[in-house]
Amino acid sequence: MTTFATTPGTAAPRFRLEQKRRITGDFPGPRSTELAARRAAVVAKGVASGVPVYVADADGGIIHDVDGNSFIDLGAGIAVTSVGASDPAVVGAVKEQVEHFTHTCFMVTPYEGYIAVAEQLAELTPGDFEKRTVLFNSGAEAVENAVKVARLATGRDAVVAFDHAYHGRTNLTMALTAKSMPYKTNFGPFAPEIYRVPMSYPFREENPAITGPEAAQRAITMIEKQLGAESVAAIIIEPVQGEGGFIVPAEGFLPALSEWATANGVVFIADEVQSGFCRTGEWFAVNHEGVVPDIITMAKGIAGGMPLSAITGRADLLDAVHAGGLGGTYGGNPVACAAALAAIGTMKEQDLAGRARHIEEQVTERFAALQADLGERGIIGELRGRGAMLAIEFVEAGSKAPNAAATKAIAAQCLREGVIILTCGTYGNVIRLLPPLVITDELLADGLDVLERAIRAVDAG
Ligand SMILES: *Cc1c(COP(=O)(O)O)cnc(C)c1O
Repeated sequence: MTTFATTPGTAAPRFRLEQKRRITGDFPGPRSTELAARRAAVVAKGVASGVPVYVADADGGIIHDVDGNSFIDLGAGIAVTSVGASDPAVVGAVKEQVEHFTHTCFMVTPYEGYIAVAEQLAELTPGDFEKRTVLFNSGAEAVENAVKVARLATGRDAVVAFDHAYHGRTNLTMALTAKSMPYKTNFGPFAPEIYRVPMSYPFREENPAITGPEAAQRAITMIEKQLGAESVAAIIIEPVQGEGGFIVPAEGFLPALSEWATANGVVFIADEVQSGFCRTGEWFAVNHEGVVPDIITMAKGIAGGMPLSAITGRADLLDAVHAGGLGGTYGGNPVACAAALAAIGTMKEQDLAGRARHIEEQVTERFAALQADLGERGIIGELRGRGAMLAIEFVEAGSKAPNAAATKAIAAQCLREGVIILTCGTYGNVIRLLPPLVITDELLADGLDVLERAIRAVDAG
């Protein structure tokens, strides 16, 4: 029996694989071990994997490895498989499309799927104005293109990014990303005209009483003094920061920045690559504070696991670009577009935004109680996040000093018991929970039981 607390009147997901954790013995097992040896001989070391087993199958909140183990997936391939890793609607749409054509290149011979995705994005993104969309393959590519558009449309060069930001691994997006190791170290020189200003990070503010608007003013003053508003093409910000630690800025921070950008002809780009598509309990994280970006970048959750990314924004900005100025061979691939339309359909039919809020309640209730139980001298510094984008920041007992060792130990213990958990944070001391939004209540509870036990064990030392 699985229960799935859906919003009344919405559909429940259908699963192929039993939604149950099962670890058969020591892992990695023999087949994973064999694959690891083959990999070491041919795959570059720079691509590292967090989990030592190899995947045979995946569905809903479960990943099967090649040796018969079943893991609970609390990472969704980094917020990608929100509808599950093999949502029947996505699988069906992909099969249907590949039987017709896999590629023609939208810049050569266009097709309907691309237009239909753009129509959906115009409807789902905030903003009551004419919008235009361009499709790409990866989050980094979307960010690169948002910056290209902003520079061309404004005739300005400077781009402002924030502390703890993550925007990708290409040259421009490395420059926009804050953290050096592992993303940037020795990969320079980086793209010029990128400027970094302070984020609102309530848990780590020197003055804990600083409000969102005050934190925004701190950033704005720095921009005005060091650059001058008139040289700034764009501000780019993740409305809930992802790799940087699932940092939710103080209330009023995003609206104040967005208002300043509008008043100064600066393009406000919301990087919703990780936070978009129901993840935070709304279609987009900016919706929580009613912020309307000029351009939104999207990827990860958009297409049920197929590689697709997008920028959607004000028509006057996007249409400022000359014909042929934007594109790419694979951008808006027809199979990926079919998958996106199906995934968006599933998000609507199953009210996955509501489901994300339901997950938030389950997780928050449990870990708030745990935090209280561990007390002032416990290792939980803060619980935060929105919807099913939730984080636990770990500290040294009785201080705010980041505790990366505890974080690593907890994630490793969860993995030993068959629960895949991701970490993040500038200081490596944050566990982030990003379950597929279709995870059943039982499976989530089982995963959280394991996590809670691991936290208690590490806290007890
Ligand atoms: C993952 C991520 C990116 C980069 O996306 P890729 O598809 O890995 O290139 C950019 N911005 C944010 C906020 C992300 O989380």
